[in-house]
Amino acid sequence: MPETLFIDGRWVSAAAGGTREIHCPADGTLVAVVDEADETDTVRAIAAARAAFDRGEWADTPMPERGAFLLRVAAMLRERKEEFAEAESRDTGKRIVESRIDMDDIAACFEYYGRLAGNDAGRVVDAGSADVLSRVVYEPVGVCALITPWNYPLLQAAWKIAPALAAGNSIVLKPAELTPHTAILMMRVLEDAGLPRGVANLVLGSGASAGGPLSTHDDVDMVSFTGGLVTGRIIAANAAATVKKVALELGGKNPNVIFADADFDAAVDNALNAAFVHSGQVCSAGARLIVEASIAERFVDELVRRAEGIRLGGPFDDAAETGPLISAAHRDKVTAYVEKGVEEGARVRCGGRWGDGDLADGFYYLPTVIDKVTRGMSVVRDEAFGPVVTVETFETEDEAVATANDTVYGLAGAVWSQDAGRVQRIAGRLRHGTIWINDYHPYLPQAEWGGFKQSGFGRELGPTGLAEYQEAKHIYQNLRPAVTGWFANR
Ligand code: NAD
Repeated sequence: MPETLFIDGRWVSAAAGGTREIHCPADGTLVAVVDEADETDTVRAIAAARAAFDRGEWADTPMPERGAFLLRVAAMLRERKEEFAEAESRDTGKRIVESRIDMDDIAACFEYYGRLAGNDAGRVVDAGSADVLSRVVYEPVGVCALITPWNYPLLQAAWKIAPALAAGNSIVLKPAELTPHTAILMMRVLEDAGLPRGVANLVLGSGASAGGPLSTHDDVDMVSFTGGLVTGRIIAANAAATVKKVALELGGKNPNVIFADADFDAAVDNALNAAFVHSGQVCSAGARLIVEASIAERFVDELVRRAEGIRLGGPFDDAAETGPLISAAHRDKVTAYVEKGVEEGARVRCGGRWGDGDLADGFYYLPTVIDKVTRGMSVVRDEAFGPVVTVETFETEDEAVATANDTVYGLAGAVWSQDAGRVQRIAGRLRHGTIWINDYHPYLPQAEWGGFKQSGFGRELGPTGLAEYQEAKHIYQNLRPAVTGWFANR
């Protein structure tokens, strides 16, 4: 088995000899065996990142050169796209066409930050006196721990790696334990592109052990986390003891609001995408359909008809339109969540069960539409992170907004209507970090992404996504030093 931890510029095995089998969730086949790090390995990776940062080789590289490095990385990713996409699909069970799209988006993210990383001379501030030179410079934060989930393994990592390196930080990446392979390939690309030793480090393993030191260790300056709300709370609490900078990209329970005057076919079609792309394992999935009462019956009938026709299958099955859930444990969680909804009085209109027949070897769950729900039900409140959409209705604009905002989350949402004024009014009133109007799911590397409320804090992408990894330092120089006379006893 090749070494799969990357620490201080070397590929190494876990110190304690731990390993983990990675299986494809589409059919259970063994993908590979990788190293399973524990706290000892992670502490070594943190030490390497600290030493690299303190040597200053990368942090002191002029920012335009760091930008040029990112552009080189982007070109290498584009060249090796197929290898990356296949690795991503084997780990996640995601359709290969979706993985290819992810790889294009990842290269685009590196290109965006490569271009953004221009002259970093900072800015001169007018101090109101000709005798003062005042300027603000932007410096790297230091050692950044990057912790990422399994649903978009390399995409979520890229949103952190590209700006963190552009800003001159050293990093320790810990991807989700179930989906390590594109992170391994990414480290190889960073190595081949000539990143100095110790600037980028990779530990693989479970959250509790391999991940533990990343939010507690004194030498970590910042922890940027994407994952579930419960884990986010633990990481924020751990990081508080050493007052680390923290960025949290957590879950969502995202409303998709449909008015009666929406383009019916486009709205149904996009509601299907919103809920069932990647079998709903998307933080911004449109899992709460909120439909104007006058069209609700017709809308849901059509949604159910189309949901029943979705073809499930493995990543390399050309006929498949969506794939499996990530693991048996996750499918059990989705199953329990739907069962609880039914106990609480909800009605399953379609799906609500595992895939069988040809699908029996994988962790498939059929696209599920649930109606007769109330806002208090857990099926409406909690994130299922599976192919499950609930249907609520409204009569007025105010009611639509109140329903869409009645969640502890605030990641994303959509509004569908042909009334130009109404869509802008609603977009302004929704308390979510991304709002789509007559669309669902697109995002841009140049536009900020992140959550309101318990969907997290901090932003990825856009200029703010770079600023997250920088410290602003004010340098104030008195050009005419003199006795102040503040204290009289000279
Ligand atoms: P998770 O919280 O279980 O795990 C995320 C990562 O944290 C993994 O690498 C895991 O090993 C690690 N981890 C777990 N406990 C840890 C600890 N104590 N210390 C350090 N690391 C620890 O989440 P998941 O199941 O992998 O991902 C699904 C979740 O991610 C969903 O809630 C989804 O909404 C969210 N997500 C959010 C966004 C966003 O942009 N807001 C994007 C993708 C996914």
